[in-house]
Amino acid sequence: MRYSIFSLAANALTGHRRWKPTWRDAAPKAGGYDVVVIGGGGHGLATAYYLARNHGIRNVAVIEKGWIGSGNVGRNTTIIRSNYLLPGNSSFYELSMKLWEGLEADLGYNAMVSQRGVLNLFHSDAQRDAYVRRGNAMRLEGIDAELLSREDVRREMPFLAFDDARFPIKGGLRQRRGGTARHDAVAWGYAGAASERGVDIIQNCEVTGFLTDPDGRVTGVETTRGAIRAGKTAMAVAGNSSRVAALAGFRLPIESHVLQAFVSEAIKPLIDNVVTFGAGHFYISQSDKGGLVFGGDIDGYNSYAQRGNLPTVEDVCEGGMALMPAIGRVRMLRSWGGIMDMSMDGSPIIDHAPVAGLYLNAGWCYGGFKATPASGHCFAHLIATDAPAREAAAYRLDRFERGYTIDEKGQGAQANLH
Ligand SMILES: Cc1cc2nc3c(=O)[nH]c(=O)nc-3n(C[C@H](O)[C@H](O)[C@H](O)COP(=O)(O)OP(=O)(O)OC[C@H]3O[C@@H](n4cnc5c(N)ncnc54)[C@H](O)[C@@H]3O)c2cc1C
Repeated sequence: MRYSIFSLAANALTGHRRWKPTWRDAAPKAGGYDVVVIGGGGHGLATAYYLARNHGIRNVAVIEKGWIGSGNVGRNTTIIRSNYLLPGNSSFYELSMKLWEGLEADLGYNAMVSQRGVLNLFHSDAQRDAYVRRGNAMRLEGIDAELLSREDVRREMPFLAFDDARFPIKGGLRQRRGGTARHDAVAWGYAGAASERGVDIIQNCEVTGFLTDPDGRVTGVETTRGAIRAGKTAMAVAGNSSRVAALAGFRLPIESHVLQAFVSEAIKPLIDNVVTFGAGHFYISQSDKGGLVFGGDIDGYNSYAQRGNLPTVEDVCEGGMALMPAIGRVRMLRSWGGIMDMSMDGSPIIDHAPVAGLYLNAGWCYGGFKATPASGHCFAHLIATDAPAREAAAYRLDRFERGYTIDEKGQGAQANLH
């Protein structure tokens, strides 16, 4: 389905009865596939798309146990940015930002990419120093960054807590090119564009095991809809990475945790960018419908549930009240949770799995949505060429063994702090 002003007008005139499904709902092919991607989230779908688009590999299936968008890709708070400090991360996330900037034209789909800016507030001199360092590192990499003073922030966002605040705002680091994208439209856009290039998207099909040859090489997957053979098998199952790895017989340096998000009733336009609180874990933006969309820390226990608990709700709301007391007068509409695959240094893994024939994409923690285009791009490169893409070269699984962790936050090996 290609979208244009003409198709919109034609469908409007015919009562919107002629729209075709955005992607084909395929059944597993008896002959198997060149590549099977497990997981129909953003990363799996983007991988399939770039395999077809960049490498001409079209005999590809994406296997999804639920429906497209039922995982984190449809549950996140939609923030995109490339304001990273460390070399292993900055070029990767900047590649992602560049791909976001051309994504809608590339996919032919409105993903509502909105470069409204991301502002990280700082509340102490030490934090200011750390943000200045990060901003300088970004600019050295050619990534946009601006330091705002307290008065700059007050001029733009007078409703934040400046006077008599528990954590006085001292300024902020802004990336203007950061912003938001409509999360589920990203999944639908990649699904449509991949399907158009011949990729089979197979929903309601759970991978329950792996097919192997006598040498132990993975040759496909066992699923709830039968065995599916594959030349190469790739996993991009986000919060379920440890479970699927266990089916293939290996362990990962990953814990699964719940992350919750919240949306308020719709109010008039108030926040025209994304703001993060530096004295606690709280971040907020406003959706195009007017709802305040916000979130904070993961729930502090391991879980595979897609819902969280009240102590974290209280903690997030405390952060909101400390930053922006007016939020206390807004009614909350909904909250929900997603399963985060928290790696031990807070950075992802895009690599060969320790089992032949299997490729691994995991460990996205809090920030995997913004990574979606670059992750798909680099994972497709690895699968197609068996060599890591330059921008993702640091995301090797053995970095934990070698001591080459990419600890952007400097928190050490504690998944719950990254
Ligand atoms: C509340 C919340 C807020 C977030 N906010 C942001 C944000 O603002 N910005 C940002 O960059 N990131 C954010 N993230 C993180 C981001 O959403 C994730 O890191 C990213 O979406 C993970 O990749 P994915 O889209 O491929 O995951 P998913 O959409 O979870 O895809 C994985 C898929 O694999 C499927 N699967 C699992 N096991 C199997 C199996 N055995 N067989 C077949 N299929 C299987 C699942 O059903 C799922 O659909 C947030 C996450 C949450 C939960």
